[in-house]
Amino acid sequence: MTTNPTLERIGVTPSPLALLLLGQGTDADSERGVDCPGALPAAADPELAGRAAAAKAALGDKVFILGHHYQRDDVIAFADVTGDSFKLAQQAAARPQAEHIVFCGVHFMAESADILTTATQHVVLPDLAAGCSMADMASAEQVEQAWDDLLEAGVAEGTVPVTYMNSSAAIKAFTGRHDGTVCTSSNAQQALNWAFGPERRGERVLFLPDQHLGRNTAIGELGMTEADCVVYDPRRRNGGLTVDQLRDAKMILWKGHCSVHGRFSRECVDEVRGRVPGVTVLVHPECKREVVTAADLVGSTEYIIKVVDAAPAGSAFAIGTELNLVQRLANRHPDKNIVFLDRTVCFCSTMNRIDMPHLVWALESLVRGEPVNRITVAPDVAHYARKALDQMLALP
Ligand code: SF4
Repeated sequence: MTTNPTLERIGVTPSPLALLLLGQGTDADSERGVDCPGALPAAADPELAGRAAAAKAALGDKVFILGHHYQRDDVIAFADVTGDSFKLAQQAAARPQAEHIVFCGVHFMAESADILTTATQHVVLPDLAAGCSMADMASAEQVEQAWDDLLEAGVAEGTVPVTYMNSSAAIKAFTGRHDGTVCTSSNAQQALNWAFGPERRGERVLFLPDQHLGRNTAIGELGMTEADCVVYDPRRRNGGLTVDQLRDAKMILWKGHCSVHGRFSRECVDEVRGRVPGVTVLVHPECKREVVTAADLVGSTEYIIKVVDAAPAGSAFAIGTELNLVQRLANRHPDKNIVFLDRTVCFCSTMNRIDMPHLVWALESLVRGEPVNRITVAPDVAHYARKALDQMLALP
């Protein structure tokens, strides 16, 4: 029986197993699996919110707390700014006076914040186990092997790496070393236009690590076809592709995906259209192509928020993105009918690892002058990752 009124309102049936299943049992590659030992306060401690507020007040301007849109409500309440990964990294960089950046998000975001902030700023991730299943699907060794395959096939020279923000610093550095660019779900189209355009003159793009964002952008925004795209599987020799396939492709898509957005299906879209009259289906481009083509609108989390905020009262939306954000939008707009695109729970399990006990532990450690879980990127990696991030900032 549904006991959470917000989940009930957005049409979701909770399952106690959902957080465990996502990114663990169903997906062997999806967890960073890092232990995070520490003297955490008890989750049931009724003083958690008061302790977090007191620690934050004690730190004053020395701390700046960033909260990703997919974070839990109780954690996001302490964020100085909320946003997607790129906006948050920019916000961190714009606060040089903040000695400590506490990043309530996942590991690759904290790495990007460390790269973009000054040497005197420290970035803290409250739980080191907060990784990203998609980022973990492309290791530095695998990507170097892929480049070797392209070199051997004689196609590396005309290939431009384009790397989604949701990737490790090492993959961003690979991209910078090979004169590519980082992109977000908001500017993937501009990134591909740049890669194929007069400035870079690429013959093909190696798109890392999310095949769906790459495919949806290439076909949906640049007018390519399925035949222009191949999928490079890092577990197979030569990515499972022939030399001809590598040479003829315009898009070499890495075989990676988001465990959360990958759950939405064409059936979910058909089912919700039958259930909610007049519904607008609004999905993130990390969803599969079949979902994006069946939807009415597709865009980044920032776009989804803007569309829902701007819609008139009485509008109906079925939203295909992380559940914490959909719940928050439903609570913010009681005059609109907002439902979740799936009928079952679909939280990002790693985002949800940042909880109040970890936040309180991280903040109180800073007050004591004993920072925990500092995220640092090695200087040589940071140098080339910054080059790829700067190229993204320079996109038209
Ligand atoms: S929602 Fe997907 S891409 Fe985003 S952090 Fe979670 S697993 Fe990674």
